[in-house]
Amino acid sequence: MTDTTPAVAMQGVNAWFGATHVLRAIDLTVAPAETLVICGPSGSGKSTLIRAVNGLVAHQSGTIRVAGLALDGSAKATDAVRARVGMVFQAFNLFPHLTVLENCTLAPLHVRRLGLKAARELALGHLDRVGLADKADSAPAELSGGQQQRVAIARALCLEPQVMLFDEPTSALDPEMVGEVLDVLTDLAAGGTTLLCVTHEMGFARAVADRVVFMDEGQIVEIAPPEDFFDRPRHPRTQGFLSRIL
Ligand code: ADP
Ligand code: MG
Repeated sequence: MTDTTPAVAMQGVNAWFGATHVLRAIDLTVAPAETLVICGPSGSGKSTLIRAVNGLVAHQSGTIRVAGLALDGSAKATDAVRARVGMVFQAFNLFPHLTVLENCTLAPLHVRRLGLKAARELALGHLDRVGLADKADSAPAELSGGQQQRVAIARALCLEPQVMLFDEPTSALDPEMVGEVLDVLTDLAAGGTTLLCVTHEMGFARAVADRVVFMDEGQIVEIAPPEDFFDRPRHPRTQGFLSRIL
């Protein structure tokens, strides 16, 4: 990959679930180190869009490339893309029977084939980055929701991914824990991680996003830097959405 290869490039992407046309002619290019926030009403296709980026949802037409690698439907391409993309969901999905450290060393050991010592060092480094190195030997159930989500982020970072995908990473958290997770995302964005994040946290979007995407009915309706997006939304549907949530 050269410096000019987009982290994510989607061209003319369409996807259907049965008869439902869930992604409509999506064109989206994300530069390396860019932070993109994706917002829009429930059912607009936000989760489907970011899941398509790591092949969790198949697209029926158009092209999707991650760091230059095309998702062509083959298992080989899908595996290669997934090894480059970290994903964090609303529910933390930690393995409950493994320690925090073991959750984080799984992918390094089994996907990246590192030795145990290297995998543990890598995992401890990323746990330290999210402020939880001291919880390495804890069980997930011993942690708060915010801490569990920070572990989920560290676990995804252990892939050393070229792109990080977040699907409403703070929506399942008690309000007092939202800030600590957004702080980690802010740190990642500042550190040059390429980040696509679906969220309703518009304060975060305004402060951290390079561009904000508004989706409705499977389409990208508007995409703009946050100052334009929030202060001068161009599309009536964006204006309506913002007036309801802000
Ligand atoms: P959002 O994340 O913006 O709320 P989604 O991407 O989850 O929206 O959903 C987009 C559309 O696709 C909705 O109409 C939803 O009902 C439909 N959908 C999502 N997942 C599936 C699925 N696995 N099977 C069938 N329809 C789905
Ligand atoms: Mg969703």
